[in-house]
Amino acid sequence: MTIQQPARQTTDLAMFGGDRAVPRELGIRPWPMVTGQDEQAVHRVLRSGRFTSASSGEQEIAGLEREWARFVGTEHCVAVSNGTAALSVALGAAGVEPGDEVIVPALSFIGSATAPLHLMAVPVFVDIDPVTFNLDPAALEAAITSRTKAIVVVHLHGLPADMDRITEIAARHGITVVEDAAQAHGARYRGRSVGSIGAVNTFSLNVSKNLATCGEGGLITTDDADVATRALMLRQFGELIPARGERSYVAHLLGWNCKPNAIQAAFTRSRLTQLPAEMAVREENVGRLLGRLAAYPGFLVPQVPQDRTHAWHILRIRVEPAAFGLADELAGPLRSVLQRALRAEGVPAVPYQLQPLPAQRVFTGRRGFGGYPWALPGVVDRPYRPGDFPATLRVLDDSFTIQKAHLHPDSGPLLDRYADAFDKVWLNREALAAIAATTDYTPHWERASEIADTEWAGAFDAR
Ligand SMILES: *Cc1c(COP(=O)(O)O)cnc(C)c1O
Repeated sequence: MTIQQPARQTTDLAMFGGDRAVPRELGIRPWPMVTGQDEQAVHRVLRSGRFTSASSGEQEIAGLEREWARFVGTEHCVAVSNGTAALSVALGAAGVEPGDEVIVPALSFIGSATAPLHLMAVPVFVDIDPVTFNLDPAALEAAITSRTKAIVVVHLHGLPADMDRITEIAARHGITVVEDAAQAHGARYRGRSVGSIGAVNTFSLNVSKNLATCGEGGLITTDDADVATRALMLRQFGELIPARGERSYVAHLLGWNCKPNAIQAAFTRSRLTQLPAEMAVREENVGRLLGRLAAYPGFLVPQVPQDRTHAWHILRIRVEPAAFGLADELAGPLRSVLQRALRAEGVPAVPYQLQPLPAQRVFTGRRGFGGYPWALPGVVDRPYRPGDFPATLRVLDDSFTIQKAHLHPDSGPLLDRYADAFDKVWLNREALAAIAATTDYTPHWERASEIADTEWAGAFDAR
């Protein structure tokens, strides 16, 4: 393709002292937003004196579970203390045992991979599709062994994964599908809500997520009553604690204590009533921003296949070196320079994850339970090598993300200014490409791998 000469070679970019495209007054609106209705919900619990799922007569947690199951379209929902606990409980309830292999995408949040490890199961990573950022079904099929028990299917950034192909492969091999929908509340795949397709599925209610609580929380959804009952026991010491009447104090299995909190449940119930309206406005705001970016061949905006909707939790934008007249190897330096230019304009362009999950030291160093689960009899201890995940490495190198700033329904005007910043950066592409061609560059994951464990020393006092 031919590159248009910019009108002026001298640049008005903020990184070289020009005015910002995004005025400072136009700050990021706080998230989670808190309405008067949300405040009243919290006060209702403070007045009730019933604060956890084990409080006799507690109604808010049961109410949230009922309403979330209805929203997602499942028979059952079990609330827990956070999204990572939700995954561990879900995997445990689905029957994952020590030494089982659990497949996890190489690009996700660390909790997707430590949840199986906490059950002494072995995480086995698969590469992503560089267009959807979700696990590549072909890589999934290739990773299945006779020990594979479950797949954690992450709907990364809010886009549903390729569920028909994944469930078909899983069914053929007798493997349990667990959706990790922490980033995808309300997203739909072929008419079904995420969290209703796998055998047992999880959501996070962390403050950063699209359906947030005033702190930490998680939700598990399933149509299977036995799985739901086991999840209930796993969240409360292996016991079945009745809503009313005498507690038996019998631990039927090895549980945790990850009971949810009623204040947070009430807050989320209130937020849930506002979720559909917020989703509609966000779709419009984000659509306008991405529509403007899509006009430039240098920025690759997220693609949404016809058969699904995107929850727009995180916006990941890739850069295309050829459109800047650069060789493909310069994708990393180009992304780095564009990210710096955009940040100077006032766009909070940040990385999401610095390395593929299999590069994390907890896995490369086999830092589990004294060498277990990898040392368990029968476990095949295969290497965790970042180089085995080229699509993940490429995406980490050539993309940046926008997080949180677009979540608030009133963020439309701010996102319009973000689009102006991209306009400005694109107009100055020749100058920026020239910098990218000569800049020193170290990929995120190499830098992350150089952070020594000795940085632990003194970290507590330095907080
Ligand atoms: C946030 C997140 C989790 C963990 O949720 P927490 O509530 O923070 O424990 C798990 N998986 C993914 C993909 C996430 O984004």
